[in-house]
Amino acid sequence: MQFKYIFLVIPIVVFSQIKVYSQQISNYWQQKANYQIHIDVDVKSHSYKGIQKLKYYNNSPDTLKKVYYHLFYNAFQPGSRMDIRNRNLLDPDRKLDVKIKNLKQDEIGNEKVLTLTQNGSPLSFNIDGTILEAILNNPIIPGDSTELNMIFEIQIPLLCRRSGRDNAQGVDYSMGQWYPKLAEYDYMGWHADQYIGREFYGVWGDFDVTIDIDSDYKVVAGADLSAIKDLNNGKSRYHFISKNVHDFVWAADRDYKHYSIDTKEGVKLNFCYQDTGKRDSIWRLAGPIMAEAFSFMNDRYGKYQYSSYTFIEGGDGGMEYPLATLITGNRGLNSLVGISIHELMHSWYQFMLATNESLYPWMDEGFTSFATIEVLNYLSKKGLINRKFPEFPFQNDYDNLIKFNKSIFREPLSLHADHYNTNYAYWENAYTGGEVFLKQLEYIIGKKAFDQGLLNYFDKWKFKHPAPIDFIRVMEKTSGMELDWYLEYFIYSTKDIDYAVDTIIVDKDEITIGLTNLNTFPMPIDVQIQFENGKKKNYHIPMDLTLGSKKKDNYEYIYLPEWNWVSPGYRFSIKNNKSKLKKVIIDPSGRLFDIDRTNNVMTN
Ligand SMILES: [Zn+2]
Repeated sequence: MQFKYIFLVIPIVVFSQIKVYSQQISNYWQQKANYQIHIDVDVKSHSYKGIQKLKYYNNSPDTLKKVYYHLFYNAFQPGSRMDIRNRNLLDPDRKLDVKIKNLKQDEIGNEKVLTLTQNGSPLSFNIDGTILEAILNNPIIPGDSTELNMIFEIQIPLLCRRSGRDNAQGVDYSMGQWYPKLAEYDYMGWHADQYIGREFYGVWGDFDVTIDIDSDYKVVAGADLSAIKDLNNGKSRYHFISKNVHDFVWAADRDYKHYSIDTKEGVKLNFCYQDTGKRDSIWRLAGPIMAEAFSFMNDRYGKYQYSSYTFIEGGDGGMEYPLATLITGNRGLNSLVGISIHELMHSWYQFMLATNESLYPWMDEGFTSFATIEVLNYLSKKGLINRKFPEFPFQNDYDNLIKFNKSIFREPLSLHADHYNTNYAYWENAYTGGEVFLKQLEYIIGKKAFDQGLLNYFDKWKFKHPAPIDFIRVMEKTSGMELDWYLEYFIYSTKDIDYAVDTIIVDKDEITIGLTNLNTFPMPIDVQIQFENGKKKNYHIPMDLTLGSKKKDNYEYIYLPEWNWVSPGYRFSIKNNKSKLKKVIIDPSGRLFDIDRTNNVMTN
């Protein structure tokens, strides 16, 4: 018989501001924007002039009297909001600070809009930083469309933060967010956020892009190349088409070479990199590994909806775009595969399931990080990468998030990506927080419902903008459990989970186990009882907020009566079958995000 006394400590809990996060699924609508863009690149001045014809469809129930565009490259100027915001963070990016400060006039990013018309008549507009606001001559009524044509002139910054020219490894042009991009309007209204270097949100539509550039440059894009034409003036004309996407990326370099492989699903994976150093041998080794990874992703997260994907050397790390990624190329194989998997996974968690990643960065970075671990773990087990994971491959990230949550930097996951006080808080919440949110959801609803739920989410929300409640509703319908409380606690509060085994009483006929909820975040609980003879019994205690319980999971459970979320303690008894009890463990799978696991185990 053993008793353990635990003092109850009531932690200080910060509630985030209650936000509107619901979405009326049955009334769902989204805008559509079809772009036709033609630019002529002057590689001497690192700039381009362009014409953009935009057909904009107002599918909203509202009459739109104005429109907003993002002019992202205006952030690459000393004194821009991106510059000021970065400098004033508690943990600024010092390199970015120095680079922006040193930009000369012919090196800054600069987007000039020369003319803007609506259905042929000129519009007056105002540019403030990275946002252009135009008052429409003719408001767009619900169900109507309009044509917005623009002539612009853009200077590419000599600072490669995601995009820009002359990246650190010698790629000439890394071209993300390179065109005046219409802001999204949805059930929350306009999302015309000033760009401070974080996340994006775009309008679904089609892109028809023509790029004229000196013929010694090779241009690649996240799109189908429909034609290359020699213009007989030293320039070539590239024509790309991309349908049902919400962004467009391209890159150009004089040293690019490329190869392609087909996955067994018939999707073409293109690898495009500078033909220098050891790149060729390493990038060629990555191809078959990525094809294997792609098949796993396709089976587990939903069928990839496009015919190609291109890994492009460029940028300043790894950045995701539709049908392509820009990643730095001078890497070893493990690093190249790791970053390639993360960016390719964004095809699911951002480019087919297009959440507003500014508002819900945990739904794109977090879900992507979750899947990245699963895919890497799969490749590791197949012996395709030289990297070993612990038995619970998420352990490292669970530990990191606990460390963050105990720090003074903690903020709730519900924050808009731009508004975190530190890069550290943004990083931990968006990437690790979203990852842990998902892995723990698997614990709550069981592996079978969780796996099916990921596919159902994809089927229901691909080519749309799912919000948190939309994801949760799919998981509720798949599992038959209520889960809104989980969203509330995990995303919209800073409450913690800490369950403990506090009592084991063994008498002649019965064994009694006592458990305590030491903190404020209620959860259903798995308990494993281990006996000296090596036998194990797994129990599951449902929690009343779920109005149900998980069914198929990692273990065969014996189900116990539910634990009311209001009750701090719980006791249950089992028959003493005379084999000596060794240990009682809360959550042997390690998936419960319990901030103190030392009290999850009690030895008899
Ligand atoms: Zn990412």
